[in-house]
Amino acid sequence: MKKPIPSDVWGDQAERSLALRLQREALPEGGARGRAAAAAVPRRPREGGRGGDTAADLPREAFARALASRGARLVQPQVFLELFSGHGGLSRALRERGFAVLEWDICRGPAWDLSARRAQKLVRGWLLAGQVWGVFMGTPCQTWTRARDTGPLRELGQAGPQLPSRLRSDQHLMGLPEVTHPADVQAIRIGNVLAGFCCSIFELMHLLQRPVALENPARSRLWLLPRLKKAAAWSTSHFVYTDMCQWGTPWKKPTRILGDRVSLHSVARECHGKLCSRTAKKHTSIHGLAQGGGFKTKAAQQYPPALCKALARCLDHAHGSSKTIALTSLFV
Ligand SMILES: [Zn+2]
Repeated sequence: MKKPIPSDVWGDQAERSLALRLQREALPEGGARGRAAAAAVPRRPREGGRGGDTAADLPREAFARALASRGARLVQPQVFLELFSGHGGLSRALRERGFAVLEWDICRGPAWDLSARRAQKLVRGWLLAGQVWGVFMGTPCQTWTRARDTGPLRELGQAGPQLPSRLRSDQHLMGLPEVTHPADVQAIRIGNVLAGFCCSIFELMHLLQRPVALENPARSRLWLLPRLKKAAAWSTSHFVYTDMCQWGTPWKKPTRILGDRVSLHSVARECHGKLCSRTAKKHTSIHGLAQGGGFKTKAAQQYPPALCKALARCLDHAHGSSKTIALTSLFV
């Protein structure tokens, strides 16, 4: 019996495979594939004709083919999208380089809630329409952090937590079954929805051959998600580790970034030793409660300006490279 597969990007597995196959066929690799690639490039439309479509094409197939061969038409997407942008440091750095950037963060209002299906659909629509050339996601890590592992399990009826309550484990990645407090159950649900959405955006950008990156703390359980593990194994993707202290903060905060079609090697900077290798001082802790209320980790969410500038440089370079990739299909 056919096992149901959760729909995210393409609706079902067959459709997803088709898009991937069409994308592979459109790649200029010579030989039979090269001929397939030549066939996949849309012919110049005849007067009143339908271009490269054939009468036997289904709309979905035609769309997937058009998507895979978009490089033949010199249409350049316009906007960089920073999802979960927070203070928008990376967006600012990209604007300084002359890019149009959309900062997407829930702090802008309820319409910017990416756990809502309508907002997710809107973002996917922009990507599929080719209006986005790159995406960076600072996926919320609050429910995925291991810092919660020593926290209590909140009882039903108990007020706000003094310390973050325990929500997940390696065995129960999608949420501990013993979590019953409605606020914690809801936090897990939102965390799962946002993580699934980020995975789908990462996969879709890969399919579209556009630069995409996702950031989370180095030890975040988000990295254990099978979809991200799979994405990390693509030939076009790679991980980098970087410690925030190396970019100017008093805390270390080891961070991992997964990038696809963007080289992030220049932001890989690790701090070794008991004292900070940059300042020769002890790192400030970001665990526990801050003096003015709230969790200390919240203050450490903002990326240091130097890291934003370095990331913007990487993405700028990827933008130039992606234009080259798109143009190569003109000459096969
Ligand atoms: Zn350090």
